[in-house]
Amino acid sequence: MARSKSDISNSAIRVFLQDVGTFYDRERGFESFRPTVKQKDQLLEYFRGRCCFCNIEIDRKSLSQDNLIPMNKSYLGLHAWGNVVPCCQSCNNEKQQKPWQAFIIALQRLAGRFITAVALIICRRGLSPQEDPRSHPRR
Ligand SMILES: [Zn+2]
Repeated sequence: MARSKSDISNSAIRVFLQDVGTFYDRERGFESFRPTVKQKDQLLEYFRGRCCFCNIEIDRKSLSQDNLIPMNKSYLGLHAWGNVVPCCQSCNNEKQQKPWQAFIIALQRLAGRFITAVALIICRRGLSPQEDPRSHPRR
């Protein structure tokens, strides 16, 4: 499949951002972010083995990595420590090229709609979730 000029320039920019990230890591006294198995484990340990966006449990095998600031010609995020975070595949697919703040705001809106939908069904069906169902006598 032929690649567009935009794809090619974005690929070149990604290579450049990766190189700048390597330099930036070294300047800050860090080993360049590749990531190696050890570096993946460090990322997972820092985020306690959870997706940094939805908090689902992930391990080295299910680990997906996201650049908080996207590595593209619009945002110029670096492939460097501090910009790479562990996340689940689902969040990575959803986030795509959005900056992390925009993605978290979108997640909150989604959570808000979910809370509203649940509250509505509870209300419409007359459920009283504060009531402990164990307090009802068995029939
Ligand atoms: Zn997630």
